[in-house]
Parts: sequence; C-alpha cells; structure tokens
Amino acid sequence: MSEFDLIIIGAGPGGYVAGIRAAQLGLKVAVIEKYSTLGGTCLNVGCIPSKALLDSSELYHLATEKFAVHGIKTGKVSIDFPQMLKRKDEVISNTVAGIDYLFKKNNITRLVGHASFVDKNSVSLKDEKGKTTQYKAKNFIIATGSKPTELPFMKFDGKHIISSTHALNLPKVPKHLIIVGGGVIGLELGSVYGRLGSKVTVIEFLDKILPTMDHELGKTLQRSLKKLNFEFHLQTKVKSAVVKSNQVEVTAENKKGENIVFTGDHVLVCVGRRPYTEGLNLENAGIKLDTRGFIQVNNHLQTTTSHIYAVGDVIGGMMLAHKAEEEGVYAVEHICEEIPHLNYNCIPGVVYTWPEVASVGQTEEQLKEKGITYKIGKFPFKASGRARAAEETDGFVKVLAHPETDEILGVHMLGPRCSDMIAEAVLAMEYKASAEDIASVVHAHPTFTEAFKEASLMATADRAIHI
Ligand SMILES: Cc1cc2nc3c(=O)[nH]c(=O)nc-3n(C[C@H](O)[C@H](O)[C@H](O)COP(=O)(O)OP(=O)(O)OC[C@H]3O[C@@H](n4cnc5c(N)ncnc54)[C@H](O)[C@@H]3O)c2cc1C
Repeated sequence: MSEFDLIIIGAGPGGYVAGIRAAQLGLKVAVIEKYSTLGGTCLNVGCIPSKALLDSSELYHLATEKFAVHGIKTGKVSIDFPQMLKRKDEVISNTVAGIDYLFKKNNITRLVGHASFVDKNSVSLKDEKGKTTQYKAKNFIIATGSKPTELPFMKFDGKHIISSTHALNLPKVPKHLIIVGGGVIGLELGSVYGRLGSKVTVIEFLDKILPTMDHELGKTLQRSLKKLNFEFHLQTKVKSAVVKSNQVEVTAENKKGENIVFTGDHVLVCVGRRPYTEGLNLENAGIKLDTRGFIQVNNHLQTTTSHIYAVGDVIGGMMLAHKAEEEGVYAVEHICEEIPHLNYNCIPGVVYTWPEVASVGQTEEQLKEKGITYKIGKFPFKASGRARAAEETDGFVKVLAHPETDEILGVHMLGPRCSDMIAEAVLAMEYKASAEDIASVVHAHPTFTEAFKEASLMATADRAIHI
C-alpha cells in the first residue's frame, strides 16, 4: 500500500492550495479528486465561469446602454451566446490546466477517484472503472466542499428547475429567469442574464437581499438592479414549481398571505449550499459532523480525530474560495509545526454585480448586536471626480471606526471596482489601522480609491474634502 505524509481529499481551492503548500514544505503529498479536472467548484462551476460570463455580459451591457453617452456609436450590437459560453469554457480549461501544471511542478501525486475512509490512517479510492486501491497517510485534509441546496418540493431537473451549475450552461438567453434567493450567487447569475436582456424576478423569503452583509448594501444594490430589468419580491415564500409547455410556473406566497404565480423559462434555485461529505465514511475515522452536517473542527482546523483536518466549504463559515485557500495553508502549516495565521475578521466578501459590492469586518448590525459603539464615515461616489468621468456614480464607501481608539471595525462599499478596492481596507484592518491612518495616506488622483480616504476622513474627523 502506498504511504504519504499527507493525503488531501478534494482538489478545490482548499485542497489544491493545501497540496502546493505541503509540497513546498517538503511533505510527500497526494491529492484525491473524483472529477477528472482539478480546481473544484471554484474553477469548474463557480467563481471562474461566473466571472467569465459576468465580464462578457457587462461588455454587451456597456455597448448597448453606456457607449452612446460617451459619444460612441456602435451600430447594431448583438449577442453570440454560443461564443460567450465557448469563451467561458476556454477560460475554465486554461485555468484548470494551470493547476495541472502547478501539481507537476511541485511533484504532487494526483489520484483520480472517489475517496472514503477505511480507518483513521487509510482511505480507499474507487476509480471510474470501479477498481479500488487503498492508501495510507500520517495526516489527512478533507476539502470536499459543498453542493447547491435543493428545495424538497422543487427538485433540480437541470432544464426548468436549475442550480447555479445549470445556469452557467443555458441553451439560450432566457426571456424570463425566476430566481429563488436574493443572495450573492443568485444576484450575480441574475446580473449575467439581466444584462443580456432577460427579465429577472428575484423571490426572497427575508425582507432584504444580501441579508448577511451590511444592510445598507443590499438596499442600495436593489435600487441599482431595478434599473437592469430586475423585479424583487421580498418576504415572499416559494411553495411549488410546475413545468407546463416548456415553461415553469412558480407559486409563491407574499407577506399578505396571497398566492402569486410567476411564469418563466427557468427557475434558478439559489438558497444556499450544503456541505458535501457523501461516501466519505467519516464514521470509520471517528470524525463528527455538527447539527447542520458540516465537519466539526477546532481552532486549528483539526477534526475530532486530530491528525485529520478539514477546510473550506465543508466546515461552513463564509463559503468563499479565498477562505478555503487560507484554511488549506493553515492546516498544512499546523501539521508542519509552523506558526500559521488566519484572521476570520479580515476575510473580504465580494458580490460581482455592477455596481460591485465589497465588505470586510463587522457590519453596523453586528456592532449594534454586540453593543459596540462606532462612528461612521461615508463618502458617495457622486462626489468622486473619477466616478463622474466614468459615468459610474452609484454607491458609496462606508467606514465604521471605534469612537475612542479610531480603529477601523468594518468597511462596506458599493460602486465601481469595489472588488479590487476592498483589498486596501483588508490590509488596513489586518494591520489594525485607524481611520486617521488611512485619511493621512496619499491616494492617487483621480481614482476610485480616494473615496476610501474621504470616508476615513469623515470617520476620524467628520470632515471630507470633497463633500
Ligand atoms: C456560481 C458560484 C460562484 C461563486 N463565486 C465565488 C466567488 O466569486 N468568490 C469566492 O470566493 N467564492 C465563490 N464561490 C464559492 C467557491 O466556489 C467555494 O467557496 C469554493 O470552491 C470552496 O472550495 P473548497 O475547496 O472548500 O470546495 P470545492 O471547490 O467544492 O471542491 C471540493 C472538491 O472535492 C471533490 N470531492 C468531494 N468529495 C470527494 C471524495 N469523496 N473524493 C474525491 N473528491 C471529492 C469535489 O469533486 C470537488 O472538486 C462561488 C460558488 C458558486 C457555486
């Protein structure tokens, strides 16, 4: 039986990054992945394909809606949807090939098949022909990720009742896309099709979209998305979906208790993701799950069996690729008795709609709940010269700082290029900067980043220069 220092199960961002770090630290490492491509959800059916389609659809939207105001006449612009999907698939295969290259470069043993625990020290791998082989290791990392959650009364059929994975490969641009759930994935995929001309109806059970982020962000984004053919039905509960003559009829109940029927080409169910542990036979290795099915880990990401770690979506928390990556590195460095670092308060969250939404640290709602007082500095993009030059004046940057220490507690932004701008706020918070620190740092003019400096000035001294 082959024996390794470390076997990693799952080659998503948690698993493949852990594999590379382990190889760098000199471990004999194998990564087991059941699919033939590396990269997991993120590279194959998540972050990368969704961003490829978001970028293509944004270009179309700019050409049809925004070029004219800049004095650019394009004539008739039309969509070649098969080409858009083909380009997305090429982006996936190039990115996946990059991970193949990194595995070879780092001498990582790649094993293809489904892994399950035989006992605490060995796993069995079943390949696609049904052949099983056993492997032993001193340590393991479980990085098996998550799958889209299904509603029990409307199971995915892949055609009319669809998950995010199906939504990345629709046969054509739908006339009407119904989305259940006003969270990040639903709003991003809805934006793709809204920009390409679909009517998008979002049905959300709660009274707000983006419910886990600072509430002001969801409210403002909702206003922006309404300009993009989005219709929102909040406090509305989906009850059933019936397929009739190549359309889907979704029945939902609004807050007054009335039934509303929506008819569309597809209903995209985006109500969350569930941890994926099927067939791992965790009980053979003494690994326990929590009440929601996530693998239980301690502060060092060790499961209830201490030489078996778990990272990424399968342990819950923020279901984000960069969180999974950081945890992968943490687990490997802990195994190697290095001094790993991971600050969960400084993990940014980004929504790649347009305007973009980005956030780090505590929200106003969390601070209120914890009884922590805070001051707010807020700067609207309307007052930014760079934003006016770009015709991108929707949104704001909001800095929440402690009233006595001036330490930045949270930064929440909505506007152009916030997905990149949030990095400065993450760095500031990681190094415990005060709002005054940011206010005294020179920011190039004219850039969108000046809004962060101005919001910090507002937070620290209630004075911005440009409002
Ligand atoms: C549409 C969409 C868009 C997203 N966009 C973003 C984004 O922009 N930014 C962001 O940060 N996050 C985004 N995410 C979330 C991100 O994809 C996940 O948080 C991330 O992929 C989690 O990484 P992971 O390594 O934990 O698991 P995964 O990426 O899910 O990888 C787990 C891997 O384990 C394999 N596996 C499972 N069980 C076994 C087994 N028993 N044996 C062998 N292999 C197994 C699976 O096949 C899979 O390849 C998005 C997700 C979706 C669905």
